[in-house]
Amino acid sequence: MDERVVTVAAVETVGPGTVAIDVETPEGFEALPGQFVLVRATVEGEELSRYYTLSSPDVDGTFELTVGVDPDGDISPWLADLDAGAELTIEGPFGNVKYDDGGDVVVAAGGPGIGPAVAIAERAVEHGHEAVVLYQDDGPAHTDRLDALEAAGATVHVFDDDADPDLADAVGEYGDDGEVYVFGFADFCGAVTDALESAGLDADAAQVESFG
Ligand SMILES: Cc1cc2nc3c(=O)[nH]c(=O)nc-3n(C[C@H](O)[C@H](O)[C@H](O)COP(=O)(O)OP(=O)(O)OC[C@H]3O[C@@H](n4cnc5c(N)ncnc54)[C@H](O)[C@@H]3O)c2cc1C
Repeated sequence: MDERVVTVAAVETVGPGTVAIDVETPEGFEALPGQFVLVRATVEGEELSRYYTLSSPDVDGTFELTVGVDPDGDISPWLADLDAGAELTIEGPFGNVKYDDGGDVVVAAGGPGIGPAVAIAERAVEHGHEAVVLYQDDGPAHTDRLDALEAAGATVHVFDDDADPDLADAVGEYGDDGEVYVFGFADFCGAVTDALESAGLDADAAQVESFG
């Protein structure tokens, strides 16, 4: 996959320890929400790369990446410190988990997984479909976009990190209401697929993107 140098259009704090990075879409770049790019960076002389998932419903003009900032991490604090006009090297898009206006959606998100979750829900609602967002995070991000989704008719539930039983109940309640997408770190993805199985739903049919 070819590398592309892209320009940062804006970096905005969208929640506790969470930034949204708007990137100018390079010519010929096409991607759908749910897909991810590889970001390459040289931080303190070390060449590093990490994956980040699209958090905008489309790539028209710009596209967005939502980054949960790990203060002990190598790349995420560096990304959060970027200014408009900075250049990034990316590769991609990658990934078969993607949404292309294909009907009703139920999106489960843990932590920074809320980025692709709001993007997919927005794209579904824009195209006249139903959307459910089940989001687990003690310090929720993208609350403006979640409020707008609710106002547009989507169902949104936010759970504290210690509310695993409530999340599992909600997965069972809504898990049959549309195509299921799951975004977040491995423990979260495992909890959601376990909850689908416990509810007698087809966990293998869920589109799961684990962040590691
Ligand atoms: C397909 C995919 C999509 C992803 N999409 C997103 C996304 O949309 N948004 C998002 O925020 N993240 C996403 N991620 C995760 C992202 O790629 C990074 O892993 C994350 O941002 C952390 O990177 P970092 O360089 O800041 O931290 P890292 O330097 O990777 O460190 C992470 C943590 O591990 C600890 N650590 C590192 N090395 C060691 C070691 N040797 N021993 C013990 N502890 C160690 C660090 O202290 C830190 O707490 C995605 C991952 C994948 C695989």
